[in-house]
Amino acid sequence: MRRYRRAGFILLGVLTAALAGLAASEARRDTTPPKLYIEAPQRAEAGTPAQLTVTADEPVTYRIGYDGTERTKVTQDWTLTLTTVAGSNPVTIEATDGSGNRTEEQAVLQGVPAPDVQVTARRELRAGDPLGVHVAWRPDGAGVTGVSVAFDGKPAHVLDTGGGAEAIVPVALSTAPGTYPLTVTVTDEFGFTHGTTTDIQVTPLVGSVETIHLDPQVAATDTPEAWAIEQKALGAAFAESVATPQWQQPFEIPIAGVTSAGFGSARRYQPGGPVSYHTGLDLAVPEGTPIHAANDGTVLLARELPISGNVVAIDHGDHVVSLYFHQSKILVQAGQKVTRGEVIGLAGTTGLSTGPHLHWEMRVDGVPTNPLAWVGHVFP
Ligand SMILES: [Zn+2]
Repeated sequence: MRRYRRAGFILLGVLTAALAGLAASEARRDTTPPKLYIEAPQRAEAGTPAQLTVTADEPVTYRIGYDGTERTKVTQDWTLTLTTVAGSNPVTIEATDGSGNRTEEQAVLQGVPAPDVQVTARRELRAGDPLGVHVAWRPDGAGVTGVSVAFDGKPAHVLDTGGGAEAIVPVALSTAPGTYPLTVTVTDEFGFTHGTTTDIQVTPLVGSVETIHLDPQVAATDTPEAWAIEQKALGAAFAESVATPQWQQPFEIPIAGVTSAGFGSARRYQPGGPVSYHTGLDLAVPEGTPIHAANDGTVLLARELPISGNVVAIDHGDHVVSLYFHQSKILVQAGQKVTRGEVIGLAGTTGLSTGPHLHWEMRVDGVPTNPLAWVGHVFP
């Protein structure tokens, strides 16, 4: 009994010595601080979640601080979500291993504000007016990767102006009076979309229905076949319009004449016949009066068509095309560059016309807009 007790004591003593030796060798071996691998975004939108992943080469006690709060956890790999705050703020990562070795790292997370989108556009216009839309955002916010503009749900062409965007919305003459949403959606560098909706009031273009008396010979040209040829040729020309604007100066009236028919006026070509709406502005002038280009551009089309007669279409870029109908003589050719004020032809009464005049149109994406809304403006 005594013998056994002594033996047991000795055995315990040996075991204690062995354990002390083991602990000493362990302490000698681990003086190496943990190695850390950090995956964190450098920029994130303020107010949105940012994911941080830390990996150590051994199990550690983490202490992660950001924006005045600290989180701790014993693990080796840790993925946590931080709510990004505005400004450049450090994320401090401290990892301590079982032997007390500590590694500290810092990552800077820049919280940028969401793009603050400003939309400038007229709040009220008449049916047929072109609606110019300017889109701007603060330079210190998140970068913008895409802009879309839609009027009443229908998308418009958007031009990147470098640090901003522009669109010319053709509000069709057939638009019923009322309030329509203009929606601008911006996609930022983080893939978030920010939408702004502005109410646009459309008022009617008032006018009475006029009956136009055509010579039987002229009236005979007003056939569905003639209109089909017309639309095909003009449609092909509009499709060729380039995206980049070709003009820098305000648009000008192409001829000094008396307005004989306003844009949007309603007319019948036969008593009791269908009402059609005038898609241009008629300026009555003596036969042979020179016609000037309303602005800089490239001639898309210069030929004779059954309704518009001798017609010239000028592409101003940004899907804006001007048209000059019923010329007695065309003085330019397709593909030719013209400058604002340059003579492109002589006025006449070719095609579906009752007397010498210039029928002038301003189309946006093929949609007729009020020519007078362009005069004196670089942008509608
Ligand atoms: Zn006309």
